[in-house]
Formats: sequence, C-alpha cells, structure tokens
Amino acid sequence: MLADSAPPALPAISLIDDGALLEWLQAGGQPTYRLKQIRQALAAGAGFEQMSTLPTDLRTQLTQRFRPRALAEIERWDSDQGLTTKILYGLDGGYTVESVVMRYERRSTLCISSQVGCPIGCPFCATGKGPFGRNLKAGEIVDQAIAAAALLAARGRRLTHVVYMGMGEPLANYEAVVQSVRGIADSSGLGISPRRITVSTSGLVPRIDELAQESLPVTLAISLHAARDELRDFLVPINRKYPLADLTQAAARFANRTGRRVSYEWVLLAEVNDSDQDARELIELTRQSFGHVNLIPFNPVPGTDFKEPDPGRIARFAGLLREGGVQVTVRDTRGRENSAACGQLRARAIGAGVITA
Ligand code: SAH
Ligand code: SF4
Repeated sequence: MLADSAPPALPAISLIDDGALLEWLQAGGQPTYRLKQIRQALAAGAGFEQMSTLPTDLRTQLTQRFRPRALAEIERWDSDQGLTTKILYGLDGGYTVESVVMRYERRSTLCISSQVGCPIGCPFCATGKGPFGRNLKAGEIVDQAIAAAALLAARGRRLTHVVYMGMGEPLANYEAVVQSVRGIADSSGLGISPRRITVSTSGLVPRIDELAQESLPVTLAISLHAARDELRDFLVPINRKYPLADLTQAAARFANRTGRRVSYEWVLLAEVNDSDQDARELIELTRQSFGHVNLIPFNPVPGTDFKEPDPGRIARFAGLLREGGVQVTVRDTRGRENSAACGQLRARAIGAGVITA
C-alpha cells in the first residue's frame, strides 16, 4: 500500500478493452476511427489534452471519464552516469512495481515487470523474497513500455528492446503477458518487433509449450542456474514440479517449433553454482539442447547469504564453457548503484517504509 495516497478515482484507459471503449465512443456519437487515433496517441505518450487529432469536446470527455495511464510514477533513480534509469510505479490497489531503462551505444532496453512480487520464491532473488501482490494487467505492462519510450524520446533515443526480466514470473501471468507482447509489438503503437522482445522464465513447462504455439517470434530465456536437479530444486523451486529433463525437452520443442534457439540464464553464485563441475554439467546440458548461455554475476541482495564470485572465478567459468563449445556472454552489471537491479528497488522502499506492498 502507498503510505498516504488514496486510490485513483478514474479508471485508466489502457485497462479498458477496445470493445468497451468503442461502445463508449459510439454512445457519444463518435466515429469508429477515433479508437485508433486515441490508442496511437496514447502509445506516443500523449495525454488527452495533447491529442490534437481529436475534437476538443472529446478531449474534455476523455479527461472527465478516464486517466491516460495505469501507472503513477512514485520515484525515479538514475545510475551508471545517467545511462540506467529505474522507476518505481504505483498501481491500482496500492501496489508498486518497477521498470529499468538501460541505454547502450546502439540500443535501449527496458526491463519490464509482469507481476507485483513473484510466487516462485527463488532464495537469491529480492523479488521472490518480498510479498506476492497480484498479476499485472496487459495494459499495466504495455504502459511501462510507453513510459520508457517517452522517457527515451525526451533524451533523443528510441526504445529498441524489451526484456521481461523485471519483477514476476511472466509465464505465471500468461494471458496478460502474451497480450502485452502483442500490444508492444503492434505496428500502430510502439511497433517493437517480437524478435527484440525477450520473455524470461523460471521454467513453467506447459506454458513454454503454449508460447511456442502463439506465432509470436519472441526470444525465450530460461533461468537455469543449475544443471542438476538436486541444486536446481533449491535455487529455482519450480524445478520440483518441472525437473530439468522436462525443461530441456520443452526448450528443444520451443526451438524446433519457432526456429529460435533459447538462451539460458545462469546467475553466478560463489561456491554454489560456479565450480568446474557445474561448468561441465552445463556444457553437457547445452550440448543436448544447443542453447546460448548468459552468465549473470550475482547482484548482492541484503538479507541473503549468497555472494558474487570474484572476477577470476567468473572468467574461469566462462572460459570452461567456451572451451566446451558453448556460446557464452557475461552480462554487464548495470544498475547496481542505488539497488537498481530488478526487484531491489521495491524491497528497499518497503524496508524504508515508503511503501508496504
Ligand atoms: N521470473 C523470471 C524473470 C524475472 S528474473 C525468471 O526468473 O526468469 C530475471 C533474471 O534475473 C532471472 O534469470 C533471475 O534468476 C535473475 N536474478 C534474480 N535475482 C538476481 C540477482 N540478485 N542477481 C542477478 N540476477 C538475478
Ligand atoms: Fe521469481 Fe524470477 Fe525472482 Fe525466481 S528469479 S523469484 S522466478 S522473479
């Protein structure tokens, strides 16, 4: 709950589906094409008063009936010399989520949230440690992308990539997430190609199969973190339900069906999953399923005993994988200042009593 704010009185237009909005427009004597004009203007980051293609009386009616965004910015942090921006948003019901915008030389990436908290409960993850709130609606996810695009446009940049690696397990909020991917990809809106959208999952096998059937060429990232069940049962508890043999087969089915190789995420935790033996097991696993591996040095989370390996260990682990024929990248450590890694901002704000949910 936000400490001192009442729930917003007006419904957010981004949460109203097209059918209901069209009905409202038609009841007010408006032509059908207004719907597209409004959706396009919203995707461009406009407020109702800035929608110059609409008649003035319609703009006034919109202002009286709706609010333009589902998200209210609570706090914003810049880090990495202004190249990383983290934003904490308030949602209906008093919940909060965070987004991170990262600017690189040739691309700008938004790390998006799909749930308030996460029900999976990985022990090293700040999001998993916090309370679970609720699923985000598709409009609340798309609005994070619209806000990021507007923030970047103000600095002369374009939003080019979206990764579902913020708070939550995207495939545990399947329908809203798929709808939001379609919304972000919609060519009359933000128009970001699904190929530049990555959905990251802890491994909900039936949902991976469902996603493969969607005709939506997103990149699938699977948070592996361990290549043997005993360790993965602990690090990613959903493994007890969908063990590695099932998960890797689902990854192979996804690759076969979509023609797109999955990428495996591996958070490097000192003396937990960074040994030579762990590297050998990972080589064996990727040999069977041809995945690319993304190594993520652990970003310390207060209240956990996990530690990041030293740079020598990280280099050795990556080197062993390369020698084993695995395609590897080591993720940069963007957003470490100001707890700006995903899941940590909300945890810090809860800790400081700024918010309670
Ligand atoms: N729930 C999804 C997507 C969000 S998490 C998933 O788990 O895939 C995105 C990635 O960040 C996951 O690979 C997750 O394991 C990783 N992650 C979580 N906490 C981290 C931390 N403290 N340091 C580094 N990576 C972390
Ligand atoms: Fe949830 Fe992903 Fe964090 Fe695990 S790592 S608790 S699945 S957000």
